[in-house]
Amino acid sequence: MKITDVEVIVVRQNEVKMIGDGSQDTAVVLVHTDEGITGIGEVDSSPEVVKAIVETPASHDQCRGLRDILVGENPLNVEYLWHKMYHYSYYYTRRSVGIHAMSGIDIALWDIAGKRMGVPVSMLIGGRFREKIPAYCSVLMPDTKEEIDALVAHHKADCNYIGYKFGWGALGESEEKDIALVEYCRQAVGDDKRLMIDIGMRWTDYKYALRVTKEYEKQRIYWLEEPFNPDRLENLGRLSESTSIAVASGEEFGTLYEFKDMLDYGKVDIVQPDMSRCGGITMAKKIADMAHLRGKKLIPHAFKTGILMGATLQLIAAIPNADMLEYCAQETVLSKNLVKHHFQLDKEGFVHIPDAPGIGVELNMDVLDQYRK
Ligand code: MG
Repeated sequence: MKITDVEVIVVRQNEVKMIGDGSQDTAVVLVHTDEGITGIGEVDSSPEVVKAIVETPASHDQCRGLRDILVGENPLNVEYLWHKMYHYSYYYTRRSVGIHAMSGIDIALWDIAGKRMGVPVSMLIGGRFREKIPAYCSVLMPDTKEEIDALVAHHKADCNYIGYKFGWGALGESEEKDIALVEYCRQAVGDDKRLMIDIGMRWTDYKYALRVTKEYEKQRIYWLEEPFNPDRLENLGRLSESTSIAVASGEEFGTLYEFKDMLDYGKVDIVQPDMSRCGGITMAKKIADMAHLRGKKLIPHAFKTGILMGATLQLIAAIPNADMLEYCAQETVLSKNLVKHHFQLDKEGFVHIPDAPGIGVELNMDVLDQYRK
């Protein structure tokens, strides 16, 4: 079996708003083979940059485009190909968008392996701990109490989520507003639901963060996510050691090296790699092992389309330390319709993990063609 091509399709809704909603566009990665099996992946990054990293010709032996590195290789050598991509594109893939592009390809390679062997990816990376997972509703933080009440009422009406995460949006404007918004969130979701708050890296001052976090303790926050820019690991570590609230982070990080630093210096309680940015399923499994070694949970970040949700569910099936699924509740055409049979919650609030071969998703070609750029 050989890789014949690596294709990146940029997909974007007609208007992109300057809000923290990654489901407005995406880079769909297709890895084609000489046996007619096509692997599907996705990258949550800047789609055109990802496409350039895949398509760029070789400059020299440490600076090759990812397609140039992969064509002609056996796609089933997934981990070898991860290292080959990293090694031969070393100038620009050690961190950030280079690792993002590799992540989408890695997901597609695992999808090929599962399809070729007729099993879900979870069966190739250790087997299944679970067949379903409770989902939490992930939304952007509204600006007012009325908007929070309306948003929660809308999502409570037909889904029995285990909890709600409010992130980015109106957070980070002032100390008083950060405290008030979270009080409104607790009132809206009720005492029986988990409440997660994602600051979206908006806090810059440690003492500000400490004061607001002390107020959040009164609201029984289940976790506080990404209070600081990911380069502020010292602040993250200080805050984590100063509060009884679990601190979560990881969606901006890639490779084992960065996650080791995040655990050593950021001292987080919950590790949140994004399959489409951390180095793919290959790297996420190792990060899960590293988190488990330290007694930490791993609850992946996933705020994109059904492709990423499919890959995320396969990892969640195969690790001991995941207990929730981030369910992107943004109602964009791509988040809901880029794959056929988008994942839904059952009456108890669980999402069932596919047992179809690969990552278990099928592209909706009508939507792909309508929104491709
Ligand atoms: Mg987040």
